[in-house]
Amino acid sequence: MSEFSLIERYFRQCGTGRADVVLGVGDDAAIVDISSGKLVVCADTLVEGVHFPAGADAADIGYKSLAVNLSDFAAMGASPKWATLALTMTQENDHWLQGFSQGFCALAADTGIALVGGDTTRGPLTVSVQLIGESGAGWLTRSGALAEQRIYVSGSLGDAALGLQCLQKEYVPGSEDHDYLLSRLARPQPRLALGAALLPWASAAIDISDGLVSDLGHLLQASDVGAVIDVRKLPLSPAYQRYLEHGGNRDFALSFGDDYELCFTAPAGHHQQILALAADMKLTISAIGWTTQDTGLRLDGEHGAEYASPVCGYRHF
Ligand code: ADP
Ligand code: MG
Repeated sequence: MSEFSLIERYFRQCGTGRADVVLGVGDDAAIVDISSGKLVVCADTLVEGVHFPAGADAADIGYKSLAVNLSDFAAMGASPKWATLALTMTQENDHWLQGFSQGFCALAADTGIALVGGDTTRGPLTVSVQLIGESGAGWLTRSGALAEQRIYVSGSLGDAALGLQCLQKEYVPGSEDHDYLLSRLARPQPRLALGAALLPWASAAIDISDGLVSDLGHLLQASDVGAVIDVRKLPLSPAYQRYLEHGGNRDFALSFGDDYELCFTAPAGHHQQILALAADMKLTISAIGWTTQDTGLRLDGEHGAEYASPVCGYRHF
């Protein structure tokens, strides 16, 4: 199959057919109608052997390459609309492409995104996705937190890291937990609806891609505040709690990434609204600490002190 028939077969009709796409896949560039306001743009790359192991399921790779970008949009409270896909593969493999495009395009359809262009090249397996959208009613940034505000996280932390431990046979849980943890690694749920709903209430937000300590650290630095976190309040799934019962600790929940939950701050006066929002969305939102005037991140609570120093997120360089 030629490069062009490959694009035609797998990527021409991918995601939602949006009325605002004037020219999609097939010309030298795409053209879209923008309604007004501000464009929001982000890009994220997944590299085989770095972001996913060699031989990972193609549909999972397709799903995750879009999901990690959607998570960035969630953290901004922005609405995604269009995507481009730069795909580098060692060879043209029909079966793999079918799986990949199915994982990617199903999530695109679910989130109302049209794939409008991209690039296809030969080389080590690398998937680079750019997401473009608009910000309607404002946006959230990393830099808006003030001192004495509550810090929250969505969902539960550490599951994706435990999923990787399962893949590497470093941790062997019961089969139900095994499946749950692997799905948290392979299929993170971008918190788009939460991000949008937080616009009136949160002061700052970030998505947890590299680990809570690292990503909250970015938020604190951008906002020029510090924080105290109570490690006993970290939201842990039942699967993670069973890992604790078997002698595990909270390191994965604190400092390993890939969960793609949101971490955000809000003034104390917004606490009730945030709890109501969590109940509405049937999503766990946990208050884990407070921002402080003094900079730096302090970890309190059971064994908190021992987490206070060297843990940090994944660094490429
Ligand atoms: P050019 O050589 O002009 O850059 P290409 O041959 O790379 O064009 O691509 C032809 C068309 O297919 C373009 O519209 C491009 O955006 C689209 N395209 C290429 N690869 C992909 C892909 N992996 N996913 C979606 N669209 C793609
Ligand atoms: Mg061209």
